[in-house]
Amino acid sequence: MYGVSLLKPRAPKRGPEVVCPVRGCDHAVPAQEALFRATPEYACPVHKIAIARSTFAYERAVDNLLWTDEESLRLLVGGRRAGNDARFKHDGSERAVAWNVFRWLEISSALGPLLEAWTGHDVVAPRCVYWGYSPQREGAHLPLLQARTAFGEDEADVTEPAVLIECEDLLVVVDPSLQGLLPGAAVSVDGSRYRQGAKGWASEVLATGAWEELSGDRGFFDLLRLWLVGSLMAERSQRAFLLVRVEPAWSNPSPSERAASLFRSSATRVAGRATWEEIAGFVRSEHHAAPGAPALLSYLREKSAGYGADGVLRRAFALEPGPAGAVRA
Ligand SMILES: [Zn+2]
Repeated sequence: MYGVSLLKPRAPKRGPEVVCPVRGCDHAVPAQEALFRATPEYACPVHKIAIARSTFAYERAVDNLLWTDEESLRLLVGGRRAGNDARFKHDGSERAVAWNVFRWLEISSALGPLLEAWTGHDVVAPRCVYWGYSPQREGAHLPLLQARTAFGEDEADVTEPAVLIECEDLLVVVDPSLQGLLPGAAVSVDGSRYRQGAKGWASEVLATGAWEELSGDRGFFDLLRLWLVGSLMAERSQRAFLLVRVEPAWSNPSPSERAASLFRSSATRVAGRATWEEIAGFVRSEHHAAPGAPALLSYLREKSAGYGADGVLRRAFALEPGPAGAVRA
């Protein structure tokens, strides 16, 4: 995996070509202007990555992952078949980061304590469902499928939480982000099914005016769907519900907080925001001796957010050494 220590601090320029971002490598490929294609024509054969101006993608998704034991891969392969996240191999994949963090928390028995820190309540038997895939069913996680059906979701555009965590009394939906919530993109689907579906569930869990404010923007809309579908699943299984946006500490918290303020919360139904840096701090202070913890912390410290418009490599997270933003050479 190529983190900031292995990458050139500035995007190398060479006319119309793009040079491999790995330090010491001069391999150049044609520049990709629009869609990023991870095909051999755009790949560095030495480092096995496809290259674009601001980012890169690994040849294989497993090259972007920390935990690739047999059982983990079974979840990965199955989930990709079911949910099919083609961006998994991309350096900027939010789901790859979510996997690397939450899979470690799960197998290290650190997930329960983290959820207890988040909720202030005892958490019993947390179990993760990644990208809505159930290995037992070899298909969609059944309660999720039922909630999707209740809202009449289109097969081609289903709500697919990156990480669902089922506990005895609590259901958690994790919405991972590497850049914060960025409103501004129009919604191309008809969202009325979410407003009317599941016997008008939206009116139970949305504040007045929420629909009008949130449903027309893609960033808000995706979060809105997670809130509706997740809270319905929790209600049906008589669990409390927590929706957590996990964002970088440097990102603007306002859009996520604005959305959360329009979700109708209660003692047992809450939307909130956490940061990757807080999770790293939790691992460092409470679980640093667990197997894999140094690898996870090093990964988060080293994680790149690609090259900015100014050509400077940025860190994904505000973790030592140095603040977020430009990476020192
Ligand atoms: Zn290279």
